[in-house]
Amino acid sequence: MQDAHALVAAARRVVVLTGAGISTDSGIPDFRGPNGVWTKNPKAERTSNIEYYVADPEVRRLAWQGRLRWVAESREPNPGHRAVVELDRRGALDTLVTQNIDGLHQAAGSRRVIEVHGSIRTFVCLDCGHREPLARVLELLPLPACERCGRVLKPGVVMFGELLPPGAMEQASELVGGAGLLLVVGSALEVYPVAGLPDEALASGARLAIVNKGSTPYDSRADLVVDASAGETLGAALALLGDEQGSTSRP
Ligand code: ZN
Repeated sequence: MQDAHALVAAARRVVVLTGAGISTDSGIPDFRGPNGVWTKNPKAERTSNIEYYVADPEVRRLAWQGRLRWVAESREPNPGHRAVVELDRRGALDTLVTQNIDGLHQAAGSRRVIEVHGSIRTFVCLDCGHREPLARVLELLPLPACERCGRVLKPGVVMFGELLPPGAMEQASELVGGAGLLLVVGSALEVYPVAGLPDEALASGARLAIVNKGSTPYDSRADLVVDASAGETLGAALALLGDEQGSTSRP
């Protein structure tokens, strides 16, 4: 933990990259963790694939019974989300990039969040482009369809087989390229192109720290690897940071 503290304190520009693991303490299951939705049922991966989602109403139903429902109904950020807000408040955070679609960073108070995989707040009709807010979609369960044309309504999140939101990934890349430290929290770093960000950070001379339950392909190249939950780890690191900054308090 002292190491985590030293890394954050030494880096001038900290970019935090979060994945599903930071939201498990809020009750949202991740994908590939020990209790991940894909670990328990490999077929559930189809619910995140645009081809299956569009072609098969049963897949859309399963998507709701599975992870989407958890995400839609979770409103409570946890100490991991709050730690990122606190980092920002203390001027230690340059940018927050998230793979998460749950909006819990914003709920915790993070102001600027680059959501590289989109967000569940808005749904869009794949045929007529009609958009529907999450609250309305929840009333249309279990099989939400477009109210204008009756076709497939899709969450505004990036599924396998789709392009990423224009600009978000480019922006993330650029910011990571200028970072002093890339702090990865709760991501197995297996989904590209986001999984390529640590490569870019290392290539441009940044340090790399990873807090994740379970291993990642980057563990051997990271300056620090903490195999634990995001909430407790970040909370502890912040407490250390607080001790030091408390003695040199800034206006
Ligand atoms: Zn429509």
